[in-house]
Amino acid sequence: MSTEKAVYFFGGGSADGRADMKNLLGGKGANLAEMANIGIQVPAGFTITTEVCTHYMKHTHSYPPALDADVRAALARVEQIMGSKFGDPVNALLVSVRSGARKSMPGMMETVLNVGLCSATIPGLVKKTGNPRFVYDAYRRLIAMYSDVVMEKAAGVEPAEGMGIRQQLDRLLDGVKKAKGYASDADISADDLQALVGQFKAKVKEVLGREFPDDPYEQLWGGIGAVFSSWNGRRAVSYRRIEGIPDEWGTAVSVQAMVFGNMGDTSATGVAFTRHPATGENVFFGEWLVNAQGEDVVAGIRTPNPLNEATKNEQNKHLPSLETAMPEVYRPLHDIRDNLEKHYTDMQDIEFTIQEGRLWMLQCRTGKRTGTAALNMAMDMLAEGLITNETAVMRVAPAQLDELLHPIVDPAAEKSADLVAKGLPAGPGGARGQVVFTAADAVEWAKQGKKVILVREETNPEDVEGMRAAVGILTARGGMTSHAALVARGWGKCCIVGAGALEVDVHKKQIRVGGRTFLEGATFTLNGTRGHVYAGQLAMMDATENPRFQQFMAIADGFRAMNVRTNADTPEDAAKARGFGAEGIGLFRTEHMFYGKGSEQPLFLLRKMIVSTTVAERRAALAELYPFVKKDIKATLAVMDGLPVTIRLLDPPLHEFVPQAHEERAKLAAALGISVEALAKRADDLHESNPMMGHRGVRLGVTFPEISEMQIRAILESAAELLKEGTKVFPEIMVPVVGMVSELEDQKKLAKQVEAEVLAKYKMKKIPHMYGTMIEIPRACLTADTIAETAEFFSYGTNDLTQMTFGFSRDDIGGFVPEYLEKKLLPVDPFQVLDREGVGQLVALGIKLGRKTRKKLKVGICGEHGGEPNSVEFCHLVGMDYVSCSPFRVPIARLAAAQAQLQYPRKKK
Ligand code: ADP
Ligand code: MG
Ligand code: MG
Repeated sequence: MSTEKAVYFFGGGSADGRADMKNLLGGKGANLAEMANIGIQVPAGFTITTEVCTHYMKHTHSYPPALDADVRAALARVEQIMGSKFGDPVNALLVSVRSGARKSMPGMMETVLNVGLCSATIPGLVKKTGNPRFVYDAYRRLIAMYSDVVMEKAAGVEPAEGMGIRQQLDRLLDGVKKAKGYASDADISADDLQALVGQFKAKVKEVLGREFPDDPYEQLWGGIGAVFSSWNGRRAVSYRRIEGIPDEWGTAVSVQAMVFGNMGDTSATGVAFTRHPATGENVFFGEWLVNAQGEDVVAGIRTPNPLNEATKNEQNKHLPSLETAMPEVYRPLHDIRDNLEKHYTDMQDIEFTIQEGRLWMLQCRTGKRTGTAALNMAMDMLAEGLITNETAVMRVAPAQLDELLHPIVDPAAEKSADLVAKGLPAGPGGARGQVVFTAADAVEWAKQGKKVILVREETNPEDVEGMRAAVGILTARGGMTSHAALVARGWGKCCIVGAGALEVDVHKKQIRVGGRTFLEGATFTLNGTRGHVYAGQLAMMDATENPRFQQFMAIADGFRAMNVRTNADTPEDAAKARGFGAEGIGLFRTEHMFYGKGSEQPLFLLRKMIVSTTVAERRAALAELYPFVKKDIKATLAVMDGLPVTIRLLDPPLHEFVPQAHEERAKLAAALGISVEALAKRADDLHESNPMMGHRGVRLGVTFPEISEMQIRAILESAAELLKEGTKVFPEIMVPVVGMVSELEDQKKLAKQVEAEVLAKYKMKKIPHMYGTMIEIPRACLTADTIAETAEFFSYGTNDLTQMTFGFSRDDIGGFVPEYLEKKLLPVDPFQVLDREGVGQLVALGIKLGRKTRKKLKVGICGEHGGEPNSVEFCHLVGMDYVSCSPFRVPIARLAAAQAQLQYPRKKK
C-alpha cells in the first residue's frame, strides 16, 4: 500500500470524492460524495477505498498502518457535523458500515446498521430520544446483523441448514410475536424488545461461543473487516462469476452517520426509481414503509406501500402512498428526483429515510432496468433533450435486446387459463416450466435440461445461482425493489414477486393456494409483464414489436461501421433474418437440407452418393441430388434479392450421413443393387478415428471433385437463371477447412471450368460472384498472405478455429471446460466469447497478412461469436467488414457493432 489517500470524507454540503471515482470509492461511496457535492442532504460519513480492501486481502486481513488515525480523524468530522459523538454516553453517534463495489452487486455483500450501540451508550440514547422502543429495536437489529455478518459469515462459521445465527434470532423474534399475538414487527413493545435483546445476546454467546462486543470501536472495526471479507463471500463470488466482474476489484466501505426511519409514525424508509424500471415509463416509482429501517423494504419482510397515487397497482392500491401520507416530505423528494435525473441524465435507483419528518438520501445509483425499459427510457430521454443519439445508443445493452424479441404468453391463451395467483410484475416476458423450491434443485434440474421456475417464499440473495438457472422466478413475498426483482430485472428474466396467495412450503416442496396443492415438478406459466401466475402450460408468442425498437435500431445503424449478416440455411430463415435487419447471408450450409423437414429424399440421394465406390456411380447419384441442391440455393438467393450470400461447399465428414438402422441400409443397398453386407463394408470403410480432423471440408472436394463441381454448378446456374429473370444476385462461393493455398487453387480450377460451362449454357458474359474461403485452421491464418492470392474473401469460422487453436474438441468440452471455468483457468468459455488473447491473435494476423496481398480483401466472421457482443466488438477492432450470426441475434450484433464504433471509431467504408 502506498501513501495514497485511504479515507474520503463526505457530508455538510461537500465531499472529497466524486461520482467518477467509483473504482476507488465504489458506486455507493462515489455517489454519496456526489450527492453531498450537489447539495442533496446525506448523513455525513466517509469511505475507505477499494485499495484498502485489496491490501486487506493481500496482507492476511490487516490494514495499512495509517488507517486507524485516518478513520478517527474522519469520524471526528462526522461527529462535528452531526452534533453527536461515537461512543458518547450522553449523546452517542451511531453509524452504518456499508459495502460498495465499482459495479452494483445488489444484496451480495454485507451492511451493518446501528453500530455504536452498547451498554455505555444505550441509556443516554433512551434519555435523549425519550423513545426506548426505538433504541431497543435498533439494538436488536444490530445484534442480528452483526452476529450474522461479522461473527458468523466473516469468521468463516458454516452453520447447518436453518441454524444460521440470524435464523435462530429470527425465530426468537417470531416467538415473541406469536406469544403476544403481534401481527407485525412494528407492534412489538419497548419492554418486549428490551427482554428480547437479552435473549439475543445469550443466544449469540451460546451459538457462537463469544460475547456480543460491547465496545463501539470493536464493533466499528469488526464491521469494516466483515464488509471487506464479504467481497469473498459465497454469494458475492458466484454473482461476480455470472456478471463477469473481476475478483481483483474489491469493495469499498462507507461508514455513515445513522438516520432513523424507525423512530415512530413520522419516520419511514423507502426505495425508489426515478422512472419505472420495468416499463421505462416517465413516472416516479417506489415503495416505502413507515417506522422501519432501510433493509425492511428490500428484504420483503412487510408488503411495502406505494410511493404515489399514480403508480398504485392491484396489489397495493389499498395501502397509503407517501404522496398522501407525508406530502411535505414527498414534495422535496420529488424535487430531488428531478435534480438527480438532470444531474446524472439517467434513471436513478435511490434509497431514502425520513427521520421524524426530515428527509435524508442514503444512496443513488444508475438503476437496473429491463430491456423494454432501457429502450423506452433511451428514446424518451432523447426526445426530452436530456441525452444525445450517441448516448441513447449506448443505453441499451445488446444482450437486453434478446428480451425484446423473446416470447410472451399468448394473450388469447391467457383468457381461458387457470389463474392461480397474482403478484407484482417484477421481470418481463413469459416463462413456463416445472416448479422447484430450492436454488440447488433449480441448478440441478436445469443441468438435466429441464425448464424450471424457482419458487421461494421470499426473495433471498443466496439464491442467485438458482435464479440464474431458472427460466422464471416466483415468490410469495417481497416488492418490486426486492433483491430478486432487482437481479431478475438486471438479467431480463421473467419474475413475479409478492404473489401473496401462495403458501410456499419449502420443506414439503409444495405450494398451497386456494384449496389446491401443487407439488414439485408441476408446470406453471408466468406472465412477468402482468404478474399473473397460471397452472399448466400456456401457448407463447413473439413479443409484438415495439415501434420504438425500429426507431432505436435505425439510430444505432447510423453509427455502425460493420455490416451484419445472418447464418441461414433455408429460404425461410433467410426471410426471417432480413426482417431482423440482416444485410446478407454470411453462412449458408448446403448440408442442412439433409436434416429435418422434407429431408428424406435428398438425404437418401446423398447417402447413395456417399456409399458409391466408383466415379460413375457417384456422378449418377449426384445428378439425382442436383435439383434439390439447386432449388434451395436458388430460393435463398431470390429471397436475399441482390444481397451477398456466402454459400459454403459441403463440410462435414461423410460418414455422419451413413444410415445405421437396418431397414435404411436395406433400402439403400437395394437402390444401389448391392447386398446389405456389401453396403456395410462400404460404410465401415468410411469410419474415421478422428473425424473432426479427418476427411471433410475441402478435402472432400479434392478427393471427390465431382461433389464440388455439382455444388458450384448449382450456385452458378441458380444465379444465371435469376439474373435472366431480372433478380439481382450476389453469391460468394466459400471453400471450408482450407489450410493451404494449394487446396484452394485445386478447387478454383474446377470452379473456373464450371463457370465457363454455365456461361456458355446460358449464353451470358458474366455472373457476378466471388470465390473465397473459410478461415478456420491456424495454418490458414499464418499463411493468409498466400491464401489471399486466390481467395477474394475470408470468412472466419471461429468455432473450428477455437477448437484447433486450443486443441479443445468442440464436442467434448463438457468434460472439462466447466471445471476450467470453476477454477478460473479460463475466464469464459472460448466457444461463446472469442478468445482475444490467443485465437484473436490468429484472426488479426490473418487479416493483416491477407490485406497485404489483397488490399480490399473482404473479411467477415460466421462462427457463433458473430452474435456475441464482446466478440462483435473485437471484430470491429480488427477491421472486419461484417459479422454474421443466427437470425435472432442479428439485432444484437447490429447494436454491438454500433456501440463498438461509438467507443472505438474507425473509418467507415
Ligand atoms: P445494499 O448495498 O445491500 O443496498 P446498503 O449499504 O445500501 O446495502 O444498506 C442497506 C440498507 O440500510 C439500505 O436500505 C439503507 O437504507 C440502510 N442504511 C444504510 N446506511 C444507513 C444510514 N446511515 N442510516 C440509515 N439507514 C441506512
Ligand atoms: Mg442499498
Ligand atoms: Mg468449420
